[in-house]
Amino acid sequence: MPELPEVETIRRDLVSVVTGKQITDVTVLLPKMVRRQGSQDELIGRARGRTVQRVRRRGKSLLCILDSLDVLVFRLGMTGQLLWSHPDCLPDEDKHTHVIIHFEKGGRILFRDIRQFGEMYLVKKGALEKILQMGAEPLHKSFTLEALKKISSSSVKIKHLLMDQKKIAGIGNIYSDEILFEAGIHPLKRASALAGKELQRLHHAIGTILREAIACKGDTLSDYRTPFGEKGQYQHFHRVYQRGGETCRRCPAPIVRVKLSGRSCHFCPSCQK
Ligand SMILES: [Zn+2]
Repeated sequence: MPELPEVETIRRDLVSVVTGKQITDVTVLLPKMVRRQGSQDELIGRARGRTVQRVRRRGKSLLCILDSLDVLVFRLGMTGQLLWSHPDCLPDEDKHTHVIIHFEKGGRILFRDIRQFGEMYLVKKGALEKILQMGAEPLHKSFTLEALKKISSSSVKIKHLLMDQKKIAGIGNIYSDEILFEAGIHPLKRASALAGKELQRLHHAIGTILREAIACKGDTLSDYRTPFGEKGQYQHFHRVYQRGGETCRRCPAPIVRVKLSGRSCHFCPSCQK
């Protein structure tokens, strides 16, 4: 499932091809992918003829801000992809392509999603934060140690807190495991039980892991691709994620995999206390 580093990689690639470009049309092949606000005809009508001013990201959502100050929001769910297609540069659409955004001079964004948990919708820029209801952006300068301390006053397990989009936006199952290993913190520990030094290590680890994964262009264990069809590389550097039974990278202990609220959770029982 695409998390912050994957969506940020998609954003950086799309900036170069769609910023300043006019949307000439939108083709919706699978209506259920267009959800929430208004009908698909309304979305098409409001997007057609508009120019993309900026491409931004909020948590795991990708945002195309139009010159009308409407925002096209893409959520990629489990297997969503936003692929750039151009007459000189395939791919072409296939049976998993559900929406096509057509741009001037023949460029297209193909919204492809095998499992169809993704969605797109259009909102007024002013209403965006209210609709997204997301917490802090972990790579923004406002995400200070103090901000993390405030969020962490809750008694939930720290792994759950890291994945709570209303507290911290963009972190999911892969990167929460990786961050907690990097910080040396046990995933089942209560957030409110973290000492000052642990919070410092956690704050540092969030930045380290997310930046490292962005530098790798994300994690391609399965479906994720960049808009230009490339795989990410972070899967080659996993500290603990999907390494259950393998030796810890820091000590001789084997990595443990447990189920936590239906999701898998990986950690080193010796390095993470
Ligand atoms: Zn270890």
